[in-house]
Amino acid sequence: MFLTSFYDPATSALTFGGFTAEGLIPIQRAVDRQHWLYDRNLGEVVAHPSGIQEALEALSRVSPSLGLDQVRYAPVIPRPPKVVCIGQNYWDHCREQKVNPPDRPILFAKLPNAYNAHRELIPVPPGCTQLDYEAELGVVIGRTAHRVTPESALDYVAGYTPVNDVSARDFQFGDRQWLRGKSQNGFAPMGPVLVPAEVVSDPQQLAIRCWVNDQLVQDSHTGEMIFDVRTLIAFISQGITLEPGDVVFTGTPNGVGIFRNPPLLLQPGDLVSVQIADWPRLENRIGPS
Ligand code: MG
Repeated sequence: MFLTSFYDPATSALTFGGFTAEGLIPIQRAVDRQHWLYDRNLGEVVAHPSGIQEALEALSRVSPSLGLDQVRYAPVIPRPPKVVCIGQNYWDHCREQKVNPPDRPILFAKLPNAYNAHRELIPVPPGCTQLDYEAELGVVIGRTAHRVTPESALDYVAGYTPVNDVSARDFQFGDRQWLRGKSQNGFAPMGPVLVPAEVVSDPQQLAIRCWVNDQLVQDSHTGEMIFDVRTLIAFISQGITLEPGDVVFTGTPNGVGIFRNPPLLLQPGDLVSVQIADWPRLENRIGPS
């Protein structure tokens, strides 16, 4: 079972629950009102040492009561304290843009206005003519990580989620800085599922794919990462303390739109789907501005 964040269709309140092929299980179906999990959001659950385990145990005892299409989803961590992103972190992505692989991880960030959810629209920013996708593995932090070693780094991971590092290439390459091009409203879709770290034996052995409408445009593997998840967490945490609920976008493989021949840039109405391994896909349609 996966975990997910959504709005209760009866009350519109933010909540979380189980995500299965048969439907959703609201946490309120699995625990009674006195239980500490009853009115938590998934960001609070991952921050609790046994939160994910307790939630999964409770949710596994009941059947889905909501259809997968019956709710509005929230970002899988509804309000991460921060989102740290890695640029140029796949060997095949460096080859396609003819840049030398970096000798250390390249860090940038996404601001909270960019946080977005499964099946929500991605708006086209005013003036943007080069809107692009980047399928990525998102790493959700579960314990405060300060100056951790690569050997221990995965102990700080609560789980993994599909993310899309949506990019306005004209802003990204025209500015001397990536922030504006990477952090427009809605440019950080995350979800729909949190896959607990316990069931991912090796984050460097995951297929990563992206579709635009029905066309497969990215088809790679997390083994192509230049700096693996352990190394990234250790590197970031030297001077940037990672907190529970933080999400790390670990970079995208080859096949992004701007470097295709001819380029494939996103237009209003296009549907972008990101898939990691065989987990449920993160789907977003491109909206108007
Ligand atoms: Mg990226």
